[in-house]
Amino acid sequence: MTRQNKWFHPFSSQLAIWNLQFEYKMSRIRLLSETVASQVAAGEVVERPASVVKELIENSIDAGARKIDILIRRGGISLVRVVDDGCGMDRDDALLSLERHATSKIRSAADLQAVATLGFRGEALPSIASVSRFRLTTREAGAVAGTEIVVNGGKIDIVRDGGEAPGTQVEVRSLFYNLPARRKFLRSENTESRNIEHQVHLQAIGHPQIGFSLLRDDRMLFQLPTAATLGDRIRDSYGIELLERLAEINGTPLRNIQIAGFIGQAGLSRQTRAQQLVFVNGRAVESGLLTAAIREGYHTALMKGQYPVTFLFLEIDPASVDVNVHPAKREVRFRDPTAVREAIVHSIQQTLERGRVEWQEKFRSPVIAPKAVPEKAAPDLSYELRYRSTGSSS
Ligand code: ADP
Ligand code: MG
Repeated sequence: MTRQNKWFHPFSSQLAIWNLQFEYKMSRIRLLSETVASQVAAGEVVERPASVVKELIENSIDAGARKIDILIRRGGISLVRVVDDGCGMDRDDALLSLERHATSKIRSAADLQAVATLGFRGEALPSIASVSRFRLTTREAGAVAGTEIVVNGGKIDIVRDGGEAPGTQVEVRSLFYNLPARRKFLRSENTESRNIEHQVHLQAIGHPQIGFSLLRDDRMLFQLPTAATLGDRIRDSYGIELLERLAEINGTPLRNIQIAGFIGQAGLSRQTRAQQLVFVNGRAVESGLLTAAIREGYHTALMKGQYPVTFLFLEIDPASVDVNVHPAKREVRFRDPTAVREAIVHSIQQTLERGRVEWQEKFRSPVIAPKAVPEKAAPDLSYELRYRSTGSSS
């Protein structure tokens, strides 16, 4: 059809009218300014101070940090500071990192098929900076000087040389100071602090090889040294008493899904899901599918209304997981949910069953060789040995 006779087509006059109406409406639609767009994005990414802590820690982990120190004041509402010893940024990158959709982690849509980092959306820093008084200091190892950038409510106020140690430090003050409506939705300082504490624990369990510390209003809540194994990290975070009531998963991969970690033995349960942690390729995720699979795995070993303690680590081909589902990256979508469910159920059942057999053997063994076991240390020793032997292998 030529351009000319298009206008004589029976539908084309209608088309022309639609075009007119569209043009008329266009004037009512405006492109948002960058700052407002960032504040809108912040609505999804930055729900509360704990989301700021999450995003900043994820950036530090992606930057290869070995140590991450977190300081919060007044539930993180007045201050969140995250200091890392990661790769740092030069001045150009530091400025670029504050632009929306600026990321070093993916380049093309194809990269979205297999995201290997915790971040990839390029939205956290500009979102946070648009709803706070924000300061970034960063320096690459070997650089003569670092960079300091101060942003207030999304507007860059200061860019200058900064002299901090190599790595990156982000300070977020007066969260939502320019969005009073959002500020009203914040809970008490205590609740926000507890959310942050949970978030830091979550990241610390997910990355035992990184040292973490959390300082709350000048009180050290915890200091977790670099740990050799997940078991060490669980012990340092929650105490040896909890670790002793867990069983280590060491099943074979089922349908290309490798599952590792620790789960509570039958009889250990909680009233909330706070200690039901699941990581998919290093990312802490929440999902109805995973929760249901865990429950199915425990089956009758769990009382109604109770939740098991789990530190489950799933390793799946990144191409089989879509992480681009939730703005805060809390949820993931599996290409083959049935396989994931089966793998979880299988590994939990296997681990619980092994625990049952070990338990039975422990009670049978004194009859066979009563003097072979030193009385006092008997229950702990077997565990310690098993634990150390797995510890040295990874
Ligand atoms: P994303 O993490 O999705 O890429 P962000 O807005 O969180 O988006 O960060 C933008 C970019 O800034 C990152 O891709 C990274 O290159 C850089 N960056 C952010 N935080 C740090 C950090 N702590 N250390 C080094 N680089 C960082
Ligand atoms: Mg990020």
